[in-house]
Amino acid sequence: MPTLQDPLMIVTDLDGSLLDHHTYSWQPAQPWLDRLNAAGIPLIICSSKTAAEIQPIQQSLGITNAPFIAENGAIIMGKNVNETRDALLPAKDYSALCQILQHVRQRYGFEFTGFADVTEKEVADWTGLTPREAVLAKMRKGSESIIWRDSPENFVAFQQALSLEKLALRQGGRFWHVMNQRDGKGTALARLLAHYTHPQGKRWITLGLGDGPNDAPMLDQVNYAVVIKGYSKNRIQLSRDDNENIYYSTGYGPQGWSEGLAHFVHC
Ligand SMILES: [Mg+2]
Repeated sequence: MPTLQDPLMIVTDLDGSLLDHHTYSWQPAQPWLDRLNAAGIPLIICSSKTAAEIQPIQQSLGITNAPFIAENGAIIMGKNVNETRDALLPAKDYSALCQILQHVRQRYGFEFTGFADVTEKEVADWTGLTPREAVLAKMRKGSESIIWRDSPENFVAFQQALSLEKLALRQGGRFWHVMNQRDGKGTALARLLAHYTHPQGKRWITLGLGDGPNDAPMLDQVNYAVVIKGYSKNRIQLSRDDNENIYYSTGYGPQGWSEGLAHFVHC
C-alpha cells in the first residue's frame, strides 16, 4: 500500500466522483485534498468536462501545476507535459465532429440532441449548472455530448454509422460522448504518463477514481483503482482481475472518493 511519501499520482474523474453528482460539491473530500496537497501529490483531473470548465475547478481546488485530461480524453492540457502540440489535439476537432453528426442525422433521420444544437439555457437545465458554467461546458474542442432520443435499434445503427467515420460513443454519467475512436480516458492517461515525469525521475504510483463506464479504461491503467458507487445504469466493467488493487466504495461521490483514498493510502 502506498503512503503519502511515495511518488503517488491521483487521477480522478469529477462528476459523481470528486464532485457530487447533484450538487457538484467536493466538501466531504476536503480533508483528503488537504493531505494530498500538503504532501505535494499531483491531482490529475480526468473528466468529460471541457478545459474551460476544468481550469476554474483546478483553481478552486488549489491545484496550480498539474496537467489534466478534458472531454473524456480528447484533450490533454498541461505545462509539464512535453509532447508536441499536435499529438495532444484531437484527430477531428469539434466543428468537424458536429458536421459529421449533422450529416449522419440528415442521412438516417436519427433523433438525438447535442450541445451544439441547444442554447446555454438548455445545457444548464440538463446539467444543473449555472448559465455561466453552461457557457464553459459549450466551449468544446474535441468531443460532443449528446442525449439519445431514438430507439435502441437505431442506437446500434448510429454507432455503426459513426464507426465508419472513425468515431466512437462513450457513456458518461449523464450523456453519451461522441469522439475520435483513438481518444478515451485510458489512452489519454497513457499519453500523459509517457510525457509527465516525476520531478526526481521516480516511477509514478498511480491511483485512479471514477464512477462511470467511461472511467473503466482509465481505471484499468492505474496501479490502484477506486470504483465509486454511481447512478449510471451500466455498472463499470473492469478488464483487470487483480482484485486486491480494486476498491468498490459504499458511498457516492466525494464520500466514496475519500473512502477509496483511505482504503489504499496510508498516512
Ligand atoms: Mg463521473
